Amino acid sequence: MENCIFCKLANGEIPTNTVYEDENYRVIMDANPANIGHSLVLPKKHGKDIFELDSETVAGAHALAKKVAEAAKKALDADGINILQNNGESAGQTVMHFHIHVIPRFKNDWPSMPMHQSGATDEETKAACAKIGEFMK
Ligand code: 5GP
Ligand code: ZN
Repeated sequence: MENCIFCKLANGEIPTNTVYEDENYRVIMDANPANIGHSLVLPKKHGKDIFELDSETVAGAHALAKKVAEAAKKALDADGINILQNNGESAGQTVMHFHIHVIPRFKNDWPSMPMHQSGATDEETKAACAKIGEFMK
């Protein structure tokens, strides 16, 4: 896709620090790392997010994220790894080409981000559970 920076990086049109590459994916270092070794798994195929991409490409990217997480943990002696993947501006996505963040974590590196707590009631949670379940059929 024209004017997509991650298409250009994934397909090698713009050179970048590459951890791994195969026919369908490239793993690059994040330009603004949250921690040392923060990498991004990019499909070479353009798709804005999980909704635009086929399941096979998404599944392959996650399998690759596991492989990179294992490599980064060993290579950098990390204590843990965060895997993040944002879909849509409201979810914090800033680059509109699907990518998975693989972020090495070290003991006491920064206070762990607590998940925001919405305060949803049990009733609201049950209703949401039923609604989502309907769309799973
Ligand atoms: P998002 O917020 O969309 O989940 O994450 C986008 C990530 O891409 C950010 O962590 C940002 O630092 C990284 N990023 C943005 N532009 C570039 C770039 O040109 N090259 C690389 N390597 N990373 C980038
Ligand atoms: Zn793209």
